[in-house]
Amino acid sequence: LLLTDLLDRSRELFPDKEIAQYGDGGPRRRYRYRDYYDRVARLAGALRELGVRPGDRVATLAWNHDRHLELYLAVPLAGAVLHTVNLRLEPGEIAYILDHADDRVVVADTALLPALEQARAARPGMFVVGTDGSAPGVLDYEDLIETGSPLSGPPDVGENDLAALCYTSGTTGPPKGVGYSHRSLYLHTFAACLADGHAISERDTVLHVVPMFHANAWGIPFAALMTGANQVLPGPRPAPADIARIIESERVTYTGMVPTVAVDLARYALARGTDLSSLRALVLGGSPPSDDLVRTFTEDLGVPVFQGWGMTEISPMGTFARPLPSADHDPAARRRFVRTQGRLLPGLRWRLVDDEGRDQPHDGKTPGELLVRGPWVAGSYFRDEHPESFTDGWLRTGDVATIDPDGYLEIVDRAKDLIKSGGEWISSVALEQALLHDPAVAEAAVIAVPHERWQERPLAFVVLHPPAEDTEDTEPADLLAGLRERVPRWWLPEQVLVVDALPRTSVGKLDKRALRDRARAGRFA
Ligand code: ATP
Ligand code: MG
Repeated sequence: LLLTDLLDRSRELFPDKEIAQYGDGGPRRRYRYRDYYDRVARLAGALRELGVRPGDRVATLAWNHDRHLELYLAVPLAGAVLHTVNLRLEPGEIAYILDHADDRVVVADTALLPALEQARAARPGMFVVGTDGSAPGVLDYEDLIETGSPLSGPPDVGENDLAALCYTSGTTGPPKGVGYSHRSLYLHTFAACLADGHAISERDTVLHVVPMFHANAWGIPFAALMTGANQVLPGPRPAPADIARIIESERVTYTGMVPTVAVDLARYALARGTDLSSLRALVLGGSPPSDDLVRTFTEDLGVPVFQGWGMTEISPMGTFARPLPSADHDPAARRRFVRTQGRLLPGLRWRLVDDEGRDQPHDGKTPGELLVRGPWVAGSYFRDEHPESFTDGWLRTGDVATIDPDGYLEIVDRAKDLIKSGGEWISSVALEQALLHDPAVAEAAVIAVPHERWQERPLAFVVLHPPAEDTEDTEPADLLAGLRERVPRWWLPEQVLVVDALPRTSVGKLDKRALRDRARAGRFA
Protein backbone atom coordinates (compact mmCIF):
# COMPACT_ATOMS: atom_id res chain seq x y z
CA LEU A 1 0.00 0.00 0.00
CA LEU A 2 1.68 3.17 -1.14
CA LEU A 3 0.12 6.57 -0.57
CA THR A 4 0.69 7.33 -4.23
CA ASP A 5 -1.34 4.23 -5.33
CA LEU A 6 -4.30 5.72 -3.58
CA LEU A 7 -4.41 8.39 -6.23
CA ASP A 8 -3.83 6.45 -9.43
CA ARG A 9 -7.50 5.72 -9.90
CA SER A 10 -8.44 9.31 -9.30
CA ARG A 11 -6.07 10.54 -12.00
CA GLU A 12 -8.06 8.57 -14.52
CA LEU A 13 -11.53 9.16 -13.12
CA PHE A 14 -11.51 12.83 -12.23
CA PRO A 15 -9.26 14.70 -14.72
CA ASP A 16 -11.66 17.64 -14.90
CA LYS A 17 -12.12 18.29 -11.21
CA GLU A 18 -10.91 21.68 -10.13
CA ILE A 19 -8.37 23.19 -7.81
CA ALA A 20 -8.97 26.87 -7.11
CA GLN A 21 -6.40 29.12 -5.52
CA TYR A 22 -7.43 32.29 -3.70
CA GLY A 23 -5.32 35.16 -2.41
CA ASP A 24 -5.37 38.96 -2.10
CA GLY A 25 -9.12 38.89 -1.60
CA GLY A 26 -10.10 36.99 -4.74
CA PRO A 27 -9.51 33.96 -6.98
CA ARG A 28 -5.98 33.87 -8.40
CA ARG A 29 -5.60 30.57 -10.23
CA ARG A 30 -7.80 27.68 -11.24
CA TYR A 31 -6.75 24.44 -12.82
CA ARG A 32 -7.82 20.85 -13.39
CA TYR A 33 -6.74 17.63 -11.73
CA ARG A 34 -5.12 16.54 -15.02
CA ASP A 35 -2.75 19.53 -14.83
CA TYR A 36 -2.22 18.92 -11.14
CA TYR A 37 -1.03 15.35 -11.70
CA ASP A 38 1.17 16.45 -14.58
CA ARG A 39 2.84 19.13 -12.44
CA VAL A 40 3.24 16.72 -9.51
CA ALA A 41 5.07 14.19 -11.71
CA ARG A 42 7.43 16.91 -13.00
CA LEU A 43 8.05 18.26 -9.53
CA ALA A 44 8.84 14.77 -8.24
CA GLY A 45 11.29 14.38 -11.14
CA ALA A 46 12.88 17.74 -10.39
CA LEU A 47 13.34 16.81 -6.72
CA ARG A 48 15.13 13.63 -7.78
CA GLU A 49 17.32 15.66 -10.11
CA LEU A 50 18.22 17.91 -7.16
CA GLY A 51 19.62 14.80 -5.51
CA VAL A 52 16.70 13.92 -3.26
CA ARG A 53 16.90 10.19 -2.49
CA PRO A 54 14.26 7.85 -1.04
CA GLY A 55 13.90 8.56 2.67
CA ASP A 56 15.31 12.11 2.47
CA ARG A 57 13.24 14.76 4.20
CA VAL A 58 11.80 17.67 2.20
CA ALA A 59 10.39 20.45 4.36
CA THR A 60 7.67 22.92 3.47
CA LEU A 61 7.15 26.33 5.08
CA ALA A 62 4.05 27.49 3.29
CA TRP A 63 0.50 28.76 3.56
CA ASN A 64 -2.45 26.81 2.16
CA HIS A 65 -2.03 27.11 -1.59
CA ASP A 66 -1.99 24.97 -4.71
CA ARG A 67 1.81 24.57 -4.71
CA HIS A 68 1.70 23.25 -1.18
CA LEU A 69 -0.94 20.78 -2.37
CA GLU A 70 1.41 19.71 -5.19
CA LEU A 71 4.17 19.06 -2.67
CA TYR A 72 1.82 16.90 -0.61
CA LEU A 73 1.98 14.35 -3.40
CA ALA A 74 5.20 15.11 -5.27
CA VAL A 75 7.46 14.51 -2.26
CA PRO A 76 6.10 11.00 -1.48
CA LEU A 77 6.12 10.25 -5.24
CA ALA A 78 9.85 11.00 -5.25
CA GLY A 79 10.14 8.48 -2.41
CA ALA A 80 11.02 11.27 0.01
CA VAL A 81 9.39 12.33 3.28
CA LEU A 82 7.12 15.38 3.31
CA HIS A 83 7.89 17.42 6.41
CA THR A 84 5.45 20.29 6.89
CA VAL A 85 6.77 22.97 9.24
CA ASN A 86 4.62 25.30 11.32
CA LEU A 87 5.18 28.71 9.74
CA ARG A 88 4.28 30.56 12.94
CA LEU A 89 7.29 29.23 14.80
CA GLU A 90 10.14 31.54 15.75
CA PRO A 91 13.23 31.40 13.48
CA GLY A 92 15.16 29.59 16.24
CA GLU A 93 12.44 26.95 16.57
CA ILE A 94 12.36 26.47 12.79
CA ALA A 95 16.14 26.02 12.79
CA TYR A 96 15.80 23.46 15.60
CA ILE A 97 13.13 21.45 13.78
CA LEU A 98 14.90 21.47 10.37
CA ASP A 99 18.03 20.27 12.12
CA HIS A 100 16.15 17.63 14.12
CA ALA A 101 14.47 16.32 10.97
CA ASP A 102 17.71 16.72 8.96
CA ASP A 103 15.87 18.18 5.97
CA ARG A 104 17.67 18.11 2.64
CA VAL A 105 15.43 20.59 0.85
CA VAL A 106 13.05 23.23 2.13
CA VAL A 107 10.35 24.71 -0.08
CA ALA A 108 9.19 28.02 1.35
CA ASP A 109 6.86 30.84 0.44
CA THR A 110 9.14 33.62 -0.68
CA ALA A 111 7.65 36.01 1.88
CA LEU A 112 8.61 33.57 4.63
CA LEU A 113 12.29 33.32 3.64
CA PRO A 114 13.49 35.71 6.39
CA ALA A 115 12.24 33.22 9.02
CA LEU A 116 14.57 30.65 7.45
CA GLU A 117 17.80 32.65 7.65
CA GLN A 118 18.97 31.09 10.89
CA ALA A 119 18.19 27.57 9.68
CA ARG A 120 20.00 28.19 6.38
CA ALA A 121 23.09 29.46 8.15
CA ALA A 122 23.15 26.29 10.26
CA ARG A 123 22.53 23.97 7.28
CA PRO A 124 24.60 25.27 4.36
CA GLY A 125 24.03 22.11 2.26
CA MET A 126 20.24 22.41 2.32
CA PHE A 127 18.54 23.41 -0.96
CA VAL A 128 16.01 26.21 -0.67
CA VAL A 129 13.14 26.60 -3.14
CA GLY A 130 10.85 29.65 -3.21
CA THR A 131 7.22 29.05 -4.19
CA ASP A 132 6.81 32.63 -5.48
CA GLY A 133 10.03 33.15 -7.40
CA SER A 134 13.72 33.04 -6.75
CA ALA A 135 16.07 35.07 -4.56
CA PRO A 136 19.83 34.85 -3.99
CA GLY A 137 20.61 31.21 -3.26
CA VAL A 138 16.95 30.26 -3.70
CA LEU A 139 15.65 28.11 -6.54
CA ASP A 140 12.43 29.00 -8.33
CA TYR A 141 9.59 26.51 -7.94
CA GLU A 142 8.14 27.07 -11.40
CA ASP A 143 11.60 26.62 -12.96
CA LEU A 144 11.85 23.25 -11.26
CA ILE A 145 8.50 22.17 -12.66
CA GLU A 146 9.36 23.42 -16.15
CA THR A 147 12.69 21.62 -16.27
CA GLY A 148 11.80 18.46 -14.31
CA SER A 149 11.32 15.28 -16.32
CA PRO A 150 8.12 13.61 -15.12
CA LEU A 151 8.52 10.66 -12.77
CA SER A 152 6.14 7.88 -13.55
CA GLY A 153 5.47 4.67 -11.71
CA PRO A 154 5.50 4.04 -7.98
CA PRO A 155 8.27 5.38 -5.78
CA ASP A 156 11.16 3.13 -4.95
CA VAL A 157 10.14 2.53 -1.32
CA GLY A 158 8.28 -0.03 0.79
CA GLU A 159 4.90 0.48 2.42
CA ASN A 160 6.41 0.83 5.87
CA ASP A 161 8.84 3.52 4.77
CA LEU A 162 8.04 7.07 5.83
CA ALA A 163 5.97 9.27 3.52
CA ALA A 164 5.52 12.22 5.86
CA LEU A 165 6.73 13.77 9.07
CA CYS A 166 4.96 16.30 11.24
CA TYR A 167 5.70 17.76 14.67
CA THR A 168 3.06 18.06 17.40
CA SER A 169 1.65 21.48 18.22
CA GLY A 170 3.87 22.04 21.25
CA THR A 171 0.96 22.85 23.58
CA THR A 172 2.32 20.92 26.54
CA GLY A 173 6.07 20.99 25.80
CA PRO A 174 8.54 21.10 22.92
CA PRO A 175 7.04 19.68 19.68
CA LYS A 176 7.57 15.96 19.10
CA GLY A 177 8.21 14.51 15.62
CA VAL A 178 5.74 11.93 14.29
CA GLY A 179 6.54 9.90 11.18
CA TYR A 180 3.81 8.42 8.94
CA SER A 181 4.43 5.45 6.69
CA HIS A 182 2.91 5.12 3.22
CA ARG A 183 0.72 2.34 4.60
CA SER A 184 -0.52 4.34 7.59
CA LEU A 185 -1.49 7.37 5.51
CA TYR A 186 -3.19 5.16 2.95
CA LEU A 187 -5.28 3.41 5.60
CA HIS A 188 -5.99 6.64 7.46
CA THR A 189 -7.37 8.21 4.29
CA PHE A 190 -9.61 5.22 3.76
CA ALA A 191 -10.89 5.11 7.31
CA ALA A 192 -11.45 8.86 7.42
CA CYS A 193 -13.77 8.43 4.46
CA LEU A 194 -15.76 5.76 6.30
CA ALA A 195 -16.70 7.93 9.27
CA ASP A 196 -20.40 8.64 9.14
CA GLY A 197 -21.01 12.06 7.59
CA HIS A 198 -17.36 12.64 6.80
CA ALA A 199 -17.12 10.78 3.52
CA ILE A 200 -15.88 13.31 0.98
CA SER A 201 -17.05 12.59 -2.55
CA GLU A 202 -16.95 14.00 -6.06
CA ARG A 203 -20.04 16.02 -5.15
CA ASP A 204 -18.05 18.02 -2.61
CA THR A 205 -16.11 21.23 -2.78
CA VAL A 206 -13.60 21.21 0.03
CA LEU A 207 -12.01 24.33 1.50
CA HIS A 208 -8.70 23.84 3.30
CA VAL A 209 -8.74 26.18 6.28
CA VAL A 210 -6.70 24.15 8.78
CA PRO A 211 -3.10 25.14 8.13
CA MET A 212 -1.56 22.54 5.85
CA PHE A 213 1.49 22.36 8.08
CA HIS A 214 -0.70 20.85 10.79
CA ALA A 215 -1.45 17.13 11.02
CA ASN A 216 -5.15 17.95 11.25
CA ALA A 217 -4.92 18.86 7.59
CA TRP A 218 -3.49 15.51 6.46
CA GLY A 219 -6.44 13.31 5.77
CA ILE A 220 -8.49 15.91 3.95
CA PRO A 221 -6.46 16.73 0.80
CA PHE A 222 -5.63 13.05 0.31
CA ALA A 223 -9.28 12.07 0.74
CA ALA A 224 -10.36 14.84 -1.62
CA LEU A 225 -7.85 13.76 -4.28
CA MET A 226 -8.86 10.13 -3.88
CA THR A 227 -12.58 10.78 -4.25
CA GLY A 228 -12.42 13.58 -6.81
CA ALA A 229 -13.74 16.51 -4.80
CA ASN A 230 -13.10 20.06 -5.98
CA GLN A 231 -10.57 21.76 -3.73
CA VAL A 232 -10.24 25.41 -2.78
CA LEU A 233 -7.16 26.88 -1.12
CA PRO A 234 -7.47 30.20 0.67
CA GLY A 235 -3.86 31.39 0.28
CA PRO A 236 -1.84 33.36 2.85
CA ARG A 237 -3.39 34.75 6.04
CA PRO A 238 -7.07 34.19 5.34
CA ALA A 239 -9.23 36.52 7.45
CA PRO A 240 -12.78 35.53 8.51
CA ALA A 241 -14.06 37.72 5.66
CA ASP A 242 -11.99 35.76 3.13
CA ILE A 243 -13.20 32.40 4.44
CA ALA A 244 -16.82 33.56 4.42
CA ARG A 245 -16.53 34.97 0.90
CA ILE A 246 -14.92 31.82 -0.47
CA ILE A 247 -17.60 29.59 1.07
CA GLU A 248 -20.27 31.75 -0.49
CA SER A 249 -18.76 32.15 -3.96
CA GLU A 250 -17.43 28.60 -4.43
CA ARG A 251 -20.46 26.99 -2.75
CA VAL A 252 -18.11 25.08 -0.45
CA THR A 253 -19.71 21.94 1.02
CA TYR A 254 -17.05 20.75 3.45
CA THR A 255 -14.49 22.49 5.62
CA GLY A 256 -12.79 22.06 8.96
CA MET A 257 -11.16 24.44 11.41
CA VAL A 258 -10.16 24.90 15.03
CA PRO A 259 -12.82 26.46 17.27
CA THR A 260 -11.03 29.84 17.57
CA VAL A 261 -11.20 30.38 13.80
CA ALA A 262 -14.82 29.20 13.75
CA VAL A 263 -15.77 31.77 16.42
CA ASP A 264 -14.48 34.59 14.20
CA LEU A 265 -16.19 33.14 11.13
CA ALA A 266 -19.53 32.89 12.95
CA ARG A 267 -19.28 36.46 14.21
CA TYR A 268 -18.50 37.74 10.72
CA ALA A 269 -21.20 35.70 8.99
CA LEU A 270 -23.88 36.78 11.48
CA ALA A 271 -22.92 40.45 11.23
CA ARG A 272 -22.83 40.44 7.41
CA GLY A 273 -25.57 37.94 6.70
CA THR A 274 -23.16 35.72 4.73
CA ASP A 275 -24.83 32.67 3.21
CA LEU A 276 -23.01 29.63 4.56
CA SER A 277 -25.82 27.24 3.71
CA SER A 278 -23.84 25.40 1.03
CA LEU A 279 -21.85 23.76 3.87
CA ARG A 280 -23.03 20.23 4.58
CA ALA A 281 -20.31 19.77 7.19
CA LEU A 282 -18.21 22.04 9.33
CA VAL A 283 -15.73 19.91 11.23
CA LEU A 284 -14.35 21.30 14.48
CA GLY A 285 -11.35 19.74 16.14
CA GLY A 286 -8.03 20.39 17.81
CA SER A 287 -9.49 21.77 21.00
CA PRO A 288 -12.93 21.70 22.60
CA PRO A 289 -15.54 23.99 20.98
CA SER A 290 -17.95 25.77 23.32
CA ASP A 291 -21.59 24.68 23.38
CA ASP A 292 -22.48 28.15 22.27
CA LEU A 293 -20.36 27.94 19.14
CA VAL A 294 -21.96 24.66 18.10
CA ARG A 295 -25.42 26.12 18.68
CA THR A 296 -24.65 29.27 16.71
CA PHE A 297 -23.64 27.29 13.65
CA THR A 298 -26.41 24.72 13.79
CA GLU A 299 -29.28 27.03 14.76
CA ASP A 300 -28.40 30.54 13.61
CA LEU A 301 -26.35 29.78 10.53
CA GLY A 302 -27.91 26.46 9.49
CA VAL A 303 -24.59 24.66 9.23
CA PRO A 304 -24.27 21.07 10.52
CA VAL A 305 -21.33 20.85 12.90
CA PHE A 306 -19.25 17.72 13.34
CA GLN A 307 -16.59 17.15 15.92
CA GLY A 308 -13.44 15.17 15.53
CA TRP A 309 -10.89 14.25 18.11
CA GLY A 310 -7.43 13.64 16.87
CA MET A 311 -3.75 13.99 17.51
CA THR A 312 -0.66 14.42 15.39
CA GLU A 313 0.26 10.94 16.67
CA ILE A 314 -2.96 9.50 15.12
CA SER A 315 -2.43 10.86 11.59
CA PRO A 316 -4.66 12.69 13.00
CA MET A 317 -8.21 11.31 13.08
CA GLY A 318 -9.29 9.15 16.01
CA THR A 319 -13.00 9.81 16.46
CA PHE A 320 -15.74 11.58 14.58
CA ALA A 321 -19.25 12.64 15.58
CA ARG A 322 -22.21 13.41 13.43
CA PRO A 323 -25.28 15.20 14.72
CA LEU A 324 -27.65 12.66 16.20
CA PRO A 325 -30.93 12.47 14.29
CA SER A 326 -32.86 12.85 17.53
CA ALA A 327 -30.92 15.92 18.60
CA ASP A 328 -33.73 18.29 17.66
CA HIS A 329 -36.23 16.54 19.88
CA ASP A 330 -34.38 15.07 22.78
CA PRO A 331 -32.50 17.58 24.94
CA ALA A 332 -30.31 14.86 26.45
CA ALA A 333 -29.26 13.70 23.00
CA ARG A 334 -28.54 17.27 22.01
CA ARG A 335 -26.34 17.74 25.04
CA ARG A 336 -24.49 14.59 24.15
CA PHE A 337 -23.99 15.72 20.58
CA VAL A 338 -22.57 19.04 21.68
CA ARG A 339 -20.21 17.44 24.16
CA THR A 340 -19.11 14.30 22.42
CA GLN A 341 -16.06 14.00 20.24
CA GLY A 342 -17.68 11.02 18.55
CA ARG A 343 -17.12 7.37 17.87
CA LEU A 344 -13.91 5.56 17.11
CA LEU A 345 -12.90 5.17 13.47
CA PRO A 346 -12.93 1.61 12.17
CA GLY A 347 -9.51 0.00 12.48
CA LEU A 348 -8.62 1.61 15.82
CA ARG A 349 -8.90 0.18 19.33
CA TRP A 350 -9.04 2.08 22.61
CA ARG A 351 -8.87 1.69 26.38
CA LEU A 352 -9.41 3.88 29.40
CA VAL A 353 -6.97 3.30 32.24
CA ASP A 354 -6.40 4.68 35.74
CA ASP A 355 -3.04 5.76 37.17
CA GLU A 356 -2.06 2.14 37.78
CA GLY A 357 -2.94 1.10 34.23
CA ARG A 358 -6.14 -0.74 35.27
CA ASP A 359 -8.96 -0.73 32.71
CA GLN A 360 -11.92 1.49 33.53
CA PRO A 361 -15.54 0.82 32.52
CA HIS A 362 -17.01 2.47 29.42
CA ASP A 363 -20.04 3.75 31.32
CA GLY A 364 -19.98 7.39 30.28
CA LYS A 365 -19.06 8.41 33.85
CA THR A 366 -15.72 6.94 34.84
CA PRO A 367 -12.79 8.95 33.50
CA GLY A 368 -9.45 7.46 32.63
CA GLU A 369 -6.47 8.17 30.43
CA LEU A 370 -7.27 7.27 26.85
CA LEU A 371 -4.98 4.75 25.16
CA VAL A 372 -5.26 3.96 21.45
CA ARG A 373 -3.65 1.64 18.95
CA GLY A 374 -4.13 0.90 15.28
CA PRO A 375 -2.59 0.96 11.83
CA TRP A 376 -2.24 4.76 11.71
CA VAL A 377 -1.33 5.35 15.34
CA ALA A 378 2.36 6.13 15.80
CA GLY A 379 4.34 3.41 17.56
CA SER A 380 7.15 5.78 18.48
CA TYR A 381 8.24 9.36 18.03
CA PHE A 382 10.78 10.34 15.41
CA ARG A 383 14.26 9.36 16.62
CA ASP A 384 12.59 7.23 19.33
CA GLU A 385 12.22 10.09 21.78
CA HIS A 386 9.72 10.00 24.69
CA PRO A 387 9.39 6.20 24.87
CA GLU A 388 7.22 6.66 28.01
CA SER A 389 4.31 7.62 25.73
CA PHE A 390 4.07 4.08 24.36
CA THR A 391 3.25 0.94 26.35
CA ASP A 392 2.87 -2.51 24.78
CA GLY A 393 1.86 -1.12 21.42
CA TRP A 394 -0.57 1.44 22.92
CA LEU A 395 -0.17 5.19 22.58
CA ARG A 396 -0.79 7.07 25.82
CA THR A 397 -2.71 10.08 24.57
CA GLY A 398 -2.34 12.27 27.67
CA ASP A 399 -6.08 12.98 27.34
CA VAL A 400 -8.48 12.06 30.13
CA ALA A 401 -11.87 10.97 28.82
CA THR A 402 -15.03 8.99 29.38
CA ILE A 403 -16.58 6.58 26.87
CA ASP A 404 -20.29 5.85 27.08
CA PRO A 405 -21.95 2.47 26.47
CA ASP A 406 -22.84 3.56 22.91
CA GLY A 407 -19.18 4.20 22.19
CA TYR A 408 -19.21 8.00 22.33
CA LEU A 409 -16.07 9.69 23.57
CA GLU A 410 -16.05 12.75 25.77
CA ILE A 411 -12.71 14.40 26.42
CA VAL A 412 -12.68 15.57 30.04
CA ASP A 413 -9.36 17.39 29.92
CA ARG A 414 -5.70 16.94 29.22
CA ALA A 415 -4.10 15.06 32.12
CA LYS A 416 -1.67 17.97 32.46
CA ASP A 417 -4.50 20.51 32.77
CA LEU A 418 -6.76 18.66 35.24
CA ILE A 419 -6.96 20.36 38.60
CA LYS A 420 -6.34 17.97 41.47
CA SER A 421 -8.15 19.51 44.39
CA GLY A 422 -8.38 17.60 47.71
CA GLY A 423 -8.13 14.20 46.05
CA GLU A 424 -10.82 15.04 43.43
CA TRP A 425 -10.46 16.19 39.85
CA ILE A 426 -11.84 19.39 38.41
CA SER A 427 -11.93 19.57 34.63
CA SER A 428 -10.51 22.90 33.47
CA VAL A 429 -12.49 22.45 30.24
CA ALA A 430 -15.82 21.99 32.06
CA LEU A 431 -15.16 25.04 34.20
CA GLU A 432 -14.34 27.07 31.07
CA GLN A 433 -17.63 25.91 29.52
CA ALA A 434 -19.49 27.04 32.66
CA LEU A 435 -17.82 30.46 32.47
CA LEU A 436 -18.63 30.76 28.76
CA HIS A 437 -22.31 30.29 29.59
CA ASP A 438 -22.29 33.87 30.83
CA PRO A 439 -23.15 36.03 27.82
CA ALA A 440 -20.61 38.62 28.98
CA VAL A 441 -17.73 36.15 28.59
CA ALA A 442 -15.99 35.91 25.22
CA GLU A 443 -13.10 33.60 26.15
CA ALA A 444 -12.14 31.66 29.26
CA ALA A 445 -9.15 29.69 30.46
CA VAL A 446 -8.75 27.85 33.75
CA ILE A 447 -5.48 26.61 35.23
CA ALA A 448 -4.41 24.95 38.47
CA VAL A 449 -2.50 26.95 41.06
CA PRO A 450 -0.77 25.29 44.02
CA HIS A 451 -2.71 25.38 47.29
CA GLU A 452 -1.44 24.46 50.75
CA ARG A 453 -4.56 22.70 51.95
CA TRP A 454 -6.18 21.39 48.77
CA GLN A 455 -3.00 20.73 46.78
CA GLU A 456 -4.36 22.63 43.75
CA ARG A 457 -7.16 25.11 43.18
CA PRO A 458 -8.58 26.57 39.94
CA LEU A 459 -7.71 30.06 38.77
CA ALA A 460 -9.79 31.52 35.95
CA PHE A 461 -8.89 34.07 33.28
CA VAL A 462 -11.66 35.59 31.17
CA VAL A 463 -11.90 37.99 28.26
CA LEU A 464 -15.18 39.93 28.25
CA HIS A 465 -17.23 41.08 25.28
CA PRO A 466 -17.25 44.87 25.01
CA PRO A 467 -20.25 45.98 27.16
CA ALA A 468 -23.28 47.36 25.34
CA GLU A 469 -23.80 51.14 25.63
CA ASP A 470 -26.33 51.27 28.42
CA THR A 471 -25.09 48.36 30.56
CA GLU A 472 -22.72 48.21 33.49
CA ASP A 473 -19.34 46.52 33.25
CA THR A 474 -19.36 42.91 34.35
CA GLU A 475 -17.30 42.34 37.49
CA PRO A 476 -15.55 39.13 38.60
CA ALA A 477 -18.02 38.91 41.49
CA ASP A 478 -20.92 38.72 38.99
CA LEU A 479 -19.18 35.91 37.16
CA LEU A 480 -18.59 33.99 40.37
CA ALA A 481 -22.25 34.44 41.34
CA GLY A 482 -23.28 33.01 37.97
CA LEU A 483 -20.88 30.10 38.34
CA ARG A 484 -22.30 29.24 41.76
CA GLU A 485 -25.51 28.20 40.02
CA ARG A 486 -23.79 26.00 37.49
CA VAL A 487 -20.98 24.14 39.24
CA PRO A 488 -20.42 22.47 42.62
CA ARG A 489 -19.18 24.83 45.33
CA TRP A 490 -15.75 23.26 45.52
CA TRP A 491 -15.20 23.96 41.81
CA LEU A 492 -15.42 27.73 42.31
CA PRO A 493 -12.14 29.34 41.21
CA GLU A 494 -9.99 31.06 43.82
CA GLN A 495 -10.15 34.12 41.61
CA VAL A 496 -11.59 35.19 38.25
CA LEU A 497 -9.23 37.56 36.50
CA VAL A 498 -10.45 39.75 33.67
CA VAL A 499 -7.76 40.15 31.00
CA ASP A 500 -7.61 41.78 27.55
CA ALA A 501 -6.53 38.66 25.70
CA LEU A 502 -5.57 35.06 26.38
CA PRO A 503 -2.26 33.65 25.19
CA ARG A 504 -2.66 31.24 22.28
CA THR A 505 -0.21 28.78 20.79
CA SER A 506 0.95 29.02 17.20
CA VAL A 507 -2.08 26.97 16.10
CA GLY A 508 -4.61 28.94 18.14
CA LYS A 509 -4.96 26.66 21.17
CA LEU A 510 -5.13 28.12 24.67
CA ASP A 511 -1.57 28.36 25.93
CA LYS A 512 -2.00 27.21 29.51
CA ARG A 513 1.74 26.82 29.97
CA ALA A 514 2.09 30.58 29.46
CA LEU A 515 -0.78 31.22 31.89
CA ARG A 516 0.84 29.00 34.52
CA ASP A 517 4.12 30.90 34.07
CA ARG A 518 2.27 34.16 34.51
CA ALA A 519 0.52 32.93 37.63
CA ARG A 520 3.80 31.67 39.09
CA ALA A 521 5.41 35.02 38.46
CA GLY A 522 2.40 36.80 39.95
CA ARG A 523 1.71 38.59 36.64
CA PHE A 524 -2.02 38.35 36.26
CA ALA A 525 -2.94 41.14 33.90
P1 ATP B 1 1.81 18.72 22.16
O1 ATP B 1 1.53 17.25 22.03
O2 ATP B 1 3.06 19.11 21.46
O3 ATP B 1 1.74 19.20 23.56
P2 ATP B 1 -0.85 19.09 21.08
O4 ATP B 1 -1.21 17.91 21.92
O5 ATP B 1 -1.73 20.29 21.18
O6 ATP B 1 0.65 19.54 21.38
P3 ATP B 1 -1.84 18.15 18.57
O7 ATP B 1 -1.42 16.81 18.12
O8 ATP B 1 -2.04 19.23 17.58
O9 ATP B 1 -0.73 18.66 19.57
O10 ATP B 1 -3.20 18.09 19.37
C1 ATP B 1 -3.76 16.91 19.91
C2 ATP B 1 -4.54 17.24 21.18
O11 ATP B 1 -5.56 18.22 20.92
C3 ATP B 1 -5.29 16.06 21.76
O12 ATP B 1 -4.43 15.24 22.54
C4 ATP B 1 -6.39 16.76 22.58
O13 ATP B 1 -5.89 17.15 23.85
C5 ATP B 1 -6.68 18.00 21.77
N1 ATP B 1 -7.89 17.81 20.95
C6 ATP B 1 -7.95 17.46 19.65
N2 ATP B 1 -9.22 17.41 19.21
C7 ATP B 1 -10.01 17.74 20.26
C8 ATP B 1 -11.43 17.89 20.46
N3 ATP B 1 -12.30 17.70 19.48
N4 ATP B 1 -11.86 18.24 21.70
C9 ATP B 1 -10.98 18.44 22.70
N5 ATP B 1 -9.65 18.34 22.58
C10 ATP B 1 -9.15 17.99 21.38
MG1 MG C 1 -0.16 16.16 22.27
